[in-house]
Amino acid sequence: MTTIEAGVTDAAARVARLLREDLRGQTAYGAPQLDVPVRLNTNENSYAVPPDVVAAITSAVGGCASELNRYPDREFTALREDLAAWLTEQTGVAVRADQVWAGNGSNEVLQHVVQAFAGPGRVALGFTPAYSMHPIISRTMGSTWVDGHRGGPSGPFEITAADVVAQVRESAPHVVFLCSPNNPTGTALDLAVVRAVLDAAPDTVVVVDEAYAEFARPGTPSAVSLLAAYPQLVVTRTMSKAFALAGGRLGYLVAAPEMVDALRLVRMPYHLSSPTQAIARAALAHRASLLAEVEAIKAQRDRIVDSLAAQGFPPVPSDANFVLFGGLADAARAWEALLAQGVLVRDVGIAHHLRVTAGTPEETTAFLDAMAGLPGEHRLDPHQPSAVSQGATA
Ligand SMILES: *Cc1c(COP(=O)(O)O)cnc(C)c1O
Repeated sequence: MTTIEAGVTDAAARVARLLREDLRGQTAYGAPQLDVPVRLNTNENSYAVPPDVVAAITSAVGGCASELNRYPDREFTALREDLAAWLTEQTGVAVRADQVWAGNGSNEVLQHVVQAFAGPGRVALGFTPAYSMHPIISRTMGSTWVDGHRGGPSGPFEITAADVVAQVRESAPHVVFLCSPNNPTGTALDLAVVRAVLDAAPDTVVVVDEAYAEFARPGTPSAVSLLAAYPQLVVTRTMSKAFALAGGRLGYLVAAPEMVDALRLVRMPYHLSSPTQAIARAALAHRASLLAEVEAIKAQRDRIVDSLAAQGFPPVPSDANFVLFGGLADAARAWEALLAQGVLVRDVGIAHHLRVTAGTPEETTAFLDAMAGLPGEHRLDPHQPSAVSQGATA
């Protein structure tokens, strides 16, 4: 037997030469997947899928097994109906199935949007720090990525309508990404900002990534409420966070039917497998059970905010299931100190800050205790200027 490595000594150099020029030297998305007791680094839902939903999913997957010889419903019609009903319930806006699209995670629906509306020779814009996959998807699809910036009267992570509109005018993007609640900072965006961008850029596709919408504080409206007025608006959602279904890989979007129709040009045929469709439908049918812990998670999120503020690690206001906090002398060293105590959080590349997911009460306690136990050397000297670096990797 020969192995594929046998005898080739310059494989790395040769692959580097074969690789697309624009991908050389890039690093892949890579949140560490470490086996530690308290994993609070990727904003998953800490609660296991409850037994009644496990039973429903098992039966639904079993039900489609004998027909796996056939391709799945390419238009995933029944799933789109179910997603439309859920969106209508959650947002209070009547959503129809022909306004809904889905993929293997919202990353895939974001990729479809970029493939259809950005891509080679076209420009995509986002406002750093935001979700790190927005630039990765844009660049790998051949788009030119413009790294917009944040900053406003209430802090370095705020974005104001005037500033965002000015940046949109300057780079004239084909696709602009907004993220609300924003990852990694946690705060939801004022809809006035979204509306200002939509009004200023009628010929730009405006994506509002609402992966964490279900965790928003009361009174936070969804951009779904703007869809009727703006055909260039796309709102993306996911079952990976509130629905506790990260492993099921189901993300979706809502947009004008014409936008949705255009995405059919770029998706692979039959991109949603029969088991994926069956799992998502079973989960949606049992949503009350799956979403039952959302309020408990929000309570832990608020507890983290209060406790970190009291400990002198300033938290950013959060509408999500995670909290970004500052006050650290060196984020990478604090990350390691927490890991040594069995608590995995996320270093998102923002100087002096780390991000932690709100988990169960026990996980939250373990994290807060580990923070309280951090030696004083990890605290940022209040006289040291706390520069916020760009290039975050949420
Ligand atoms: C987690 C996350 C997603 C979700 O990705 P999936 O592919 O649906 O798991 C999308 N957007 C943001 C901002 C996220 O944080």
